Amino acid sequence: MPRKARGTSPPSDAGAQYRVGIGYDSHRFALGRPLTLGGILIPSEVGLDGHSDADAICHAITDAILGAAGMGDIGEMFPDTDPANKGRDSIGMLEAAVRRLTAAGYKVGQIDVSVITEAPRLSPYREKIRARLASALGIDSSNVSVKGKTNEGMGWIGRKEGLACIAIATLKGNQ
Ligand SMILES: [Zn+2]
Repeated sequence: MPRKARGTSPPSDAGAQYRVGIGYDSHRFALGRPLTLGGILIPSEVGLDGHSDADAICHAITDAILGAAGMGDIGEMFPDTDPANKGRDSIGMLEAAVRRLTAAGYKVGQIDVSVITEAPRLSPYREKIRARLASALGIDSSNVSVKGKTNEGMGWIGRKEGLACIAIATLKGNQ
């Protein structure tokens, strides 16, 4: 009987299929609009313009998880030509995308988000945003990371014309 080499035993999740997706979103700042990021209303003089509530964190994450599953993108799932999507709650869109993934046998593993904006600072709201996203995604908030960073004053983000979000997601399942 061959001796088993040390360190070759498979990890406990051997056979699990991991998939990775990326999402990007940007919105223009506008006066008289709410600033909602990751489902949390953030006090700010300017909000984000858009067809829905313009929650760029939720939009980027929705694209990342749909992308990881090879299920298209948020624009296909919720076309902005459909009046039903005007002013739509983006946490609700994210939850609908999670339901679609779950039905296909996937589970969200982990999310990492970078929000690139000169203002406002996100750190006071970070824990609230993580908790809100975790609840929508059906995962523990330890698996949701939200980071804020500036663009060092450069370009359209530097001129405070708007903000951008980049999200990456891992999915497990659907073997
Ligand atoms: Zn968006």
